[in-house]
Amino acid sequence: MPEMDGFQLVERIRQHPELTGATIMMLSSAGQRGDAIRCRELDVAAYLTKPIRQGDLREAILKVLGKTLGPQAAPPLITRHTLTRDRNALRILLVEDNAVNLALAVRLLEKQGYTTAVAASGREALALLEKQVFDLVLMDVQMPEMDGLEATAALRENEKGTSQHMPVIAMTAHAMKGDREKCLAAGMDGYISKPIKANELFQVIEQFVPQNSAEHSDRN
Ligand code: MN
Repeated sequence: MPEMDGFQLVERIRQHPELTGATIMMLSSAGQRGDAIRCRELDVAAYLTKPIRQGDLREAILKVLGKTLGPQAAPPLITRHTLTRDRNALRILLVEDNAVNLALAVRLLEKQGYTTAVAASGREALALLEKQVFDLVLMDVQMPEMDGLEATAALRENEKGTSQHMPVIAMTAHAMKGDREKCLAAGMDGYISKPIKANELFQVIEQFVPQNSAEHSDRN
């Protein structure tokens, strides 16, 4: 910006006692060497490069607010890189018997940076859940062999007596009255209708995967 740039403004803001504690996110069209260090010195919570996508901005704000409200002492600087890295650390199991729907969902999730695994029936899903660690399950409702409701009920049965609770989001073809209740009764946590819309899908994932997803990548 002319006259006073963003960093100068943040310096001034930090000198105002009534503004201490203000959460600051910076947007820049060209990242400069040393910007990350200045951000850290000035206690800037996020540094994002423009153009910024709506979903990235929303996710960054949620993370920043989570960190601000949380007890963490020195939260890491949130950047486009950390947003992508956190998504990469999220393992999503997609359970869907329809190959076209499956391919569409995988493409959407991987384009956004999530790590996916697939299963074509409830039975396959349960077998994978025994062997691998996931953060979220997207579960078709109607499937041959074992449908999504049965698979979720079996998963909840396995979780009994443990502190575990795998978030399961139902995907259903026709949003019929009563479907939502059936899904919730089977132990599902959320619900999206098919055909899948990207925004709806990403919002539901963000809603059910806790904001501390960065902890996953620290483990990696
Ligand atoms: Mn199906």
